[in-house]
This record gives sequence, C-alpha cells and structure tokens, in this order.
Amino acid sequence: MKVKNSDDNNICQECYSKYKRITPLINPESCLRNHRQYICSTCGRHICADIDGNGRFRALFPFKTLEIAKLYLRSAEVILEKACGIYEIENDKGRKFFKIFSSDEDMNAYLSKNRGKKCKTQKPLFKTEYYKNYEDNQLRKISAKETDIYMEEKTRESPEWSKI
Ligand SMILES: [Zn+2]
Ligand SMILES: [Zn+2]
Repeated sequence: MKVKNSDDNNICQECYSKYKRITPLINPESCLRNHRQYICSTCGRHICADIDGNGRFRALFPFKTLEIAKLYLRSAEVILEKACGIYEIENDKGRKFFKIFSSDEDMNAYLSKNRGKKCKTQKPLFKTEYYKNYEDNQLRKISAKETDIYMEEKTRESPEWSKI
C-alpha cells in the first residue's frame, strides 16, 4: 500500500518524507548531539536511531499521528533490518496511536502482551514493500560541526513544514 497523491514525487524514496530536515522533532539539537542517527543518503535527513537505557528503540515507540510515524519508519526498518508497516492501535479508552512493526505477527504478539489494546484493521495503514540495505556510515553519531550545519538547514526549512 503506497500513498498516492500529488505529493508523491516530492517524497524521498529512501526515507518517506518530503521534508528533508523535519527530524528530530523533539529537542532536535540534543537528539543530534547525543543520539545515534540514521542519515538518509538520498535527502540527508537525520532520523533518531537510538536505543534507550532499557534497550528499547525510540523509533518503535508509539506515535501520535500516522504522519509522524512515517518520519521514523526508515529508522525502524534499519534497526530491525526488515521492511516495516505502521499500525493504528487503540487502547481501552478509545485513544488511538500509531506503532511500527515488521509484520502482522509482531503486531499481534504485542497485542497479546498488551490486553486492552487492539488493532481494528489488523493490517498496516502504510507499509514498505521490501527492505533496502544501507551503508555503515549512514548509522552513526554525528560530529558537533555536522550538528551545527544540520540545525542551520533545519531552521531554514522549518517555515515549509511548520504548517503540518
Ligand atoms: Zn534522538
Ligand atoms: Zn530521505
């Protein structure tokens, strides 16, 4: 299932975003300085590919919207080394969030460990067809200088995407 709309041509084929500097979304400078990043070889976007103190991948945390989850999809794929999909999960209070899994089986395993949560569609809302490999130097911590340059570019791009 691919997004089909007039924006299709602008979307990076490698990292699925049309905004090249939109990430990191939260505390960008600190994320860039302290966390391992996935660096898109096509558009240069950096995506947090960090693993937290409990061994959990940040890219696999729940996201508020499908659009935000899409921004982290490539990072999740690279960490899992598999094509992935984004699923809409609903909790027992009817609150929805979006989570990335590499298969319907993985999603169902998550649901079985999290009673009260469900996935009405049982299928991803968005998924990638196949896993594309990456080069070693695309997954690393960036230097202080690289951070400064990226932050400058991010500030310049931000008026474009601040509307979304
Ligand atoms: Zn980060
Ligand atoms: Zn890209």
